This record gives sequence, C-alpha cells and structure tokens, in this order.
Amino acid sequence: MAKKQYAVIGMGRFGTSVAQSLSQMGFEVLAIDTDEHRIQEVVNIVTHAVAADSTDEEAMRAIGIRNIDVVVVAIGEDIQSSILTTLILKDLGVSTIIVKAQNELHGKVLNKIGADKVVYPERDMGLRVAHHLISPNILDFIELSDDYSIAEIKAPKAMLGKNLKQLDIRAKFRCNVMGIKSGAGMNIAPHAEDTIKEGDVLVVVGKNTDLTGLELAYSEG
Ligand code: ATP
Repeated sequence: MAKKQYAVIGMGRFGTSVAQSLSQMGFEVLAIDTDEHRIQEVVNIVTHAVAADSTDEEAMRAIGIRNIDVVVVAIGEDIQSSILTTLILKDLGVSTIIVKAQNELHGKVLNKIGADKVVYPERDMGLRVAHHLISPNILDFIELSDDYSIAEIKAPKAMLGKNLKQLDIRAKFRCNVMGIKSGAGMNIAPHAEDTIKEGDVLVVVGKNTDLTGLELAYSEG
C-alpha cells in the first residue's frame, strides 16, 4: 500500500511542527500558505511547498488537493478563513480533514460543517502543563472525553516496592492501571502481584476528578 500523503495549510508554529514531524516520519507533505516568506522557510523540510490562498476554491482545485489523503488546516487566528477552507475541502471531496480550533465555539462550527477531527493544541498543552504543575510526576495527560482521561504517572517514591494489590488504586481512587512502562518494555496486562520499581511509569485511566485525587495523593515525588 502506498504511503499516505498529507497537506498542511497554514505554516504558523503548529502547522510547521505538524509538517516537519510528518516529513521526518517519512511521509510526503505538501505545505500551503498565503505568505511567500513562510513558504520559503519550510521549502527544505517538506516535499512540496506552495504559496496559495486556501479560501480560493479554484486554487485548491488546481493544486489537486482532493487527491491528498489527509489535509490539516492549521490556520488559527483567522477563524473565518479556517471555516471557509474546511468547507471548500469538504466540497472538493478531501477524505480526511483535521482542523485546529482557536476556541470551543470555533470547534463546534468545524464539527458541524464536517471536519473529521478538531484539535485544540493550546488548550491541550495548557491542560498538560497544569497537571504537571500540580504533580511533577504527571508526564502526560490525554483527554478521552470531557470526564475521562489517561494519565502517565512516574512512580512516586511512596509506591516503590509495592504491588498493585497493596496500592489498591482501583478501590482507593476509582482509577485503573492499564499498563506499566519499565525501561524500554511495557507491561500491558498488569497483575495484582506486579511490583512497582524505580523509574516505572504507570498508565492510568479514570475520571478526571479521580485522577486528580490520585495525583495529589502522590504529589510528593
Ligand atoms: P501558531 O499559533 O501555530 O503559530 P496561529 O494560530 O497564530 O499559528 P496564524 O498565524 O493565524 O495561526 O496562521 C498560521 C498561518 O496560516 C500563517 O502563516 C498564515 O499566513 C497562514 N494563513 C492564514 N490564512 C490562510 C489562507 N487563507 N490560506 C493559506 N494560508 C493561510
């Protein structure tokens, strides 16, 4: 099967980072921006870079955007352009459209007009930083829904040498340990007798309020 082709529209910090990462992973990436200077800056890190306005349907048709498997719309500030671009891509028949939203309302509109996925990079990063601040042991935090998340927690000192049965995280905090990362390895079906060692990382799923309870209970490091 041929490798997926990607296009990223809007070479701000977010769009450039997405384009560069996809390129480094070995995918073909087409970068689009109205600003010639931005295009010059990314010309060496992507497969193709084109100066064009994504709200110009004819220009998008001429580029052949509908043949690209996944298009990422990374226009942040100009909400109107972001919405118009998404509509045009949808009309042209792009199969997967991922759009960066500036705020919840923008995101709602994007969902309504058929964006396949809406991302909120600033909000998500803010959430991660906040969790890391209340407990430095929190390495990552991924929202599954408004109420549920997955947290990656560096095993705090108080957990070392204890097994899952002794820690009793399920009963005490109503959270479930889905996996334990140990060095390069990953235990994806932890047993009650599995002991937590220094450097282990617990992958825990639960309600946000319960995860916060667990984070705070072990926030001392
Ligand atoms: P970041 O926070 O990721 O830096 P941002 O949210 O500030 O980005 P903008 O700076 O508004 O986003 O937009 C990112 C890029 O999108 C800019 O380089 C801008 O030139 C480009 N852009 C804006 N409108 C269009 C458009 N209609 N077609 C193509 N590119 C566009």
